[in-house]
Amino acid sequence: MKKNYIIDGNEASAMGAYIFSELCGIYPITPATPMATLVDKWSSQGRKNLFNDTVKVIEMQSEVGAAAVTHGALQAGSLATTFSASQGLLLMIPTMYKMAGEMLPAVIHVAARSIATHALSIFGDHQDIYATRSTGFCMLSSSSVEDAYYMSLVSHLAAIDGKLPFLHFFDGFRTSHELNKVSLLDDNEVLKLIDYEKIYEFKRKALNIGKEITRGTSQTADVYFQNTEVRNKYYNDMPNIVNKYMEKINELAQTSYKPFNYYGDPKATHIIVAMGSVCETVKTVVDELNKNGRKTGLIEVFLYRPFSSEYLLNVLPKTVTNIAVLDRTKESGSTGEPLYLDVMEVLKHKNIHIYGGRYGLSSKDVPLKDINAVFENIFSDNPKNGFTIGIVDDVTYLSLEPKELNVDVDYKEIKVFGFGSDGMVGASKNLMKVLGEKSDYVQGYFEYDSKKSGGVTVSHLRVGPSKINAPYFLTSPDFIVISKDVYLSRYFCLENIKENGKLLISSSLNDKELNDLISYENKKEIIDKNIKVYVCNLEELNDKYSLGGKINNIMSYYMFKILNKGNEAIEDFKELIKSTYSSKGNIVVENNLNALEESEKYLEEVDNNIFVLDKSETNDKTVISEMIYRRGDNLSVSNFIDHADGTYEGGSASLDKRKISSFVPKWCKENCIQCNQCAFVCPHAVIRPFSLTDNECLEAHIDKSETIESLGEKNKNFFISVSESNCTGCGLCIKACPGKNGEKALVEGEYSVRMDKISDHLFENQDNITPFNKFTVKGVGFQKPYFEFSGACAGCGEAAYIKILTELYGKNIVIANATGCSSIYGASLPITPYKIPWMNSLFEDNAEFGLGVHSSYKKMRERIKEIMIQTKDVVDSEVKETYKEWIDNMEDDDLTLVIKDKLDKSEIPNELRILLDYIPSRKVWILGGDGWAYDIGYGGLDHVLYSNEDVNILVLDTEV
Ligand code: SF4
Ligand code: SF4
Repeated sequence: MKKNYIIDGNEASAMGAYIFSELCGIYPITPATPMATLVDKWSSQGRKNLFNDTVKVIEMQSEVGAAAVTHGALQAGSLATTFSASQGLLLMIPTMYKMAGEMLPAVIHVAARSIATHALSIFGDHQDIYATRSTGFCMLSSSSVEDAYYMSLVSHLAAIDGKLPFLHFFDGFRTSHELNKVSLLDDNEVLKLIDYEKIYEFKRKALNIGKEITRGTSQTADVYFQNTEVRNKYYNDMPNIVNKYMEKINELAQTSYKPFNYYGDPKATHIIVAMGSVCETVKTVVDELNKNGRKTGLIEVFLYRPFSSEYLLNVLPKTVTNIAVLDRTKESGSTGEPLYLDVMEVLKHKNIHIYGGRYGLSSKDVPLKDINAVFENIFSDNPKNGFTIGIVDDVTYLSLEPKELNVDVDYKEIKVFGFGSDGMVGASKNLMKVLGEKSDYVQGYFEYDSKKSGGVTVSHLRVGPSKINAPYFLTSPDFIVISKDVYLSRYFCLENIKENGKLLISSSLNDKELNDLISYENKKEIIDKNIKVYVCNLEELNDKYSLGGKINNIMSYYMFKILNKGNEAIEDFKELIKSTYSSKGNIVVENNLNALEESEKYLEEVDNNIFVLDKSETNDKTVISEMIYRRGDNLSVSNFIDHADGTYEGGSASLDKRKISSFVPKWCKENCIQCNQCAFVCPHAVIRPFSLTDNECLEAHIDKSETIESLGEKNKNFFISVSESNCTGCGLCIKACPGKNGEKALVEGEYSVRMDKISDHLFENQDNITPFNKFTVKGVGFQKPYFEFSGACAGCGEAAYIKILTELYGKNIVIANATGCSSIYGASLPITPYKIPWMNSLFEDNAEFGLGVHSSYKKMRERIKEIMIQTKDVVDSEVKETYKEWIDNMEDDDLTLVIKDKLDKSEIPNELRILLDYIPSRKVWILGGDGWAYDIGYGGLDHVLYSNEDVNILVLDTEV
C-alpha cells in the first residue's frame, strides 16, 4: 500500500532514516538541518520506528561529535544514523574511516553541498560527497524527492545486510528543499523488507558485558595491509545486496530501481551518464531528441560506491558509440572528475568515445538547453572534453553554448517574488499543499539570496494534472507575484513571462507612481505580452488586523483567485490558516480569517494603459552591481580574473540601497536632546548624528533651519541624518529615543530621495572630530563606523556591537570571523559591509585562525624591529630618528600611520621596505557568533586564552 505526501527531499529521506534508527547523533548544517530537526521532532512526539520504539536523539557540539556518538552507539549495538553536508561532512571523515574499517552499519544522509574554497556556499553540488569516497562508505544517490525516500530505505537495509556503512545523498536545495507530491510505502510494507536475522547478528557483534573483546587496536606493518584487504569480499558482495533490496522495493512500490538505471532508446548511440537531480532533466531531453529521430539515452547512477562494472555493463546498450559523463564537482588539476574516471575505467577496452563535463556547481541551474548542448557536443565532429555547461568560459573556452529546446508541458508555472521573512515562501508552500491535496500534482522550489533577512526570495511553482519532474527554474511563467513593488524597479522580474500572462503586485502606489517605479524592461514585457496586471494595497488591512507585515495568507488567497481555482480550495485554505495559527491563540486565527474575508475589496485589476514606455535605465556593469541587480548568472569567467582568489573590495553594502522598510525614522529636531542613543542602538549604522559648521551644512545641502545648535560645541549645528534606503525598519532608534517632554524626537515617516543624498554626502565625509569622549554613548555616535548596512536581520543584536567596535577602534582593526550568522551578514556577496580588513577560515578553527593572523603580524613587526636595530647605523640620521620613534610608539594608531608614510619616502633597506605595510599598529579581533560560541571548549579558543597572546575576542551570541 502506498500513500501520497507533499514533502521535500529532506523529509522523504528522514522518514526512511527514522523508521530504521534506534539512535541519531545530530548537529545542524544547511541544507541537511531539516532532516535532523524532523527526526528530533518526531522523537519528541513519541513516533515509533519499525521496532515499535522511539528514536533517541542526541544533539552534539559539532559534526565531529555527531559522527562520534553515532560511531559509539553502533559499537554498542544500536542502529545509528546521522545527517550532514559540506564542511560538516568533511569533519566526519576521520570517523567515517573508522566506521567503515569496523564494518558498522552506519548511515549518513547527506543533502550534498558545495565546500568552502575561494568562498563559502551553502548551495548544492557533489563536492562534499566526492571528498568522502575513499573512506570505505558505500554510496547511494537519489535523483528526486521520491527517490530520497526509497534510497533511504535501501541504504539502511543494505548496511545491515552487507555489514558496511552507507552514505545516502541527494542534491542540496534542488532535492532537499523541493516540495513534490510523492507516493510512498506504508511502514507495514517496509516491515516486510527487514531481515531480522541480520539485525540479531549485528546486535550479537556489539561490544557488551560478558564479552572479552578488543576492537580498534593499533597495528604495524606486518598485518595492517592484509587486515585491510580481507574486507574486499564485503564490497564485492554489496552491489548484489543493494540490487536485492531494490528489486524487493520495486515489487512492493511498482518502481524500477537498479544500481544503474537505463532510460531512453534501447539502440542509443549517444548517451549521458550522471547522478542526482540532473537525471530528470536529461530524461526530458532524451525524450524530445528521440521524438525527433535521434537515438539517445541516460544511465542514471544510484549505487555510486561500490562502483559495479557488472551492473553498469548490464544496462549499457551495445549500440553506444559516444558517452558524456556529467560530474557536479571540480577537481582542479585532475585528468577528469570522479564519475568520468570511473566510467573510463570500466569501458577502457570498449570502442566508445567518452567525454567528461562539469555542471551545476553551487546549485547553478541546469535547464534543458544546457543538457541539449551536451548531446550536441557528443554528436559533433569535434567534441570537447572537460567541458562545462551553464556558464560562459571566455578564458579557457571550455563551456558549451546552450541549445534551446522547447518541450510541451501540461503544467502551469507560477513565480513568486518575496523578501526574506515576509512569509511569501510560506504562502507558496501553502498554495502547493492545498492544490496538491486536491487532484493536482505540484512542485515547489525556493531560491534564497544571501541576506539573513530582507533578501529576495523567489518561489518557482508548478501545478499540473500529472507528475512533475522538472528540476530546473521556471522557463515561462504563466503568473508572477511580486510582494514588494520596488523589485520591479531593480530586477527584471517579468523575464520570459508567457503571452497574456498574469501579474499580481502588492503596492500602495497610485497608477502614476507605479508607472514611474517600474523599470523600462518590465513595462515592455507588460505591454508587449499583454499581461493582465492586478494590484493589491494591503497596508490598511495589515494595520487593522495587526498582521505585522505578514500578508502571506491574503496573497495566497489572491493567487487562488487569480488562478481560478474555485471556492472549494479557498475553504481548504481557511482550514489551513486555522491549523497553522492555532498554537498562536484565537485572536491571531480570527484576525487572519477576518482579514481574508475582507481582502476582496483591496484587489483591483489595472488598465495597462497606465504604463508608458518613456525611460530606459543603464546600470554600471561591475561584478558587484550585476549581482545586486540579480544578473550574476550573466557574468562570464573573465569577469572574475581579478577575483580568482576570492578577494573583493569591502564596503559594497552602500551600493545596495534596498528600501526594504515600509517606514523610515524622521527627525523632529524640537524634541531632540542630542543624546545619540538612536545611533548607538542602530545595528545597521543607518542613523548618525553630525555636528556641522555652517559651511559643512551648505556642502551637504542642509538648510540651517533644519538643524539645532550643537550642545557643548560653539558655532556648530546638530543634525540627525538617516540613510533611508538602507533602513531595515527595525524601529530600535525610535524605541530608544527619549525625546523631550514626553514627545519622541524620531517618528515613522516616508522615504525621501533628498535625505538619502544628504546622508551619502555626510557619511562619506564623516571626520570623527568631536570634543566628546568616544567611550561614551554621546561621543561614539560621532565616530565613523567601518561596518555599515549589513544584510543582518532587522534589529540584530550582534551587528550593533560590531558597528560600535569599529567606531571605537576605527581603521586599526582586522577581523578574523568564524563561519556562521556573523560571516553571512559580514561578507555575503554582493554585500560587503566592512571597510576594514575582514577574513574568515571556517566554523571550527576560527580561534586558531585568528591566532595565526595575530602571530603573523607580531612576527613581522618583531622582524621590523630587528632590522631597525641592525641597520640603524647605516641609514641617515633622520631615518634613524624615525626608527626610534616607531620602536617607542609601536602601538600608537595615529603615529604609526604617519611613520609608515615617512619611511616610505626615505632611503631605507629593501628588507624593511617590503615590510612597510606592517608598520601601522593593529589589533586582531576574533569574531564568532551562533553555535561557534558553544565550541569554545572543543575549539582552539582555550589555546588562545592560555597562550598569553593578547588577541581580542568578541563572542556574538545573545545566549552566552
Ligand atoms: Fe536603524 Fe532600525 Fe532606526 Fe532604521 S529603524 S535607522 S535600521 S535603528
Ligand atoms: Fe535626538 Fe532621540 Fe537621537 Fe537622542 S535618540 S539624539 S533625542 S533623535
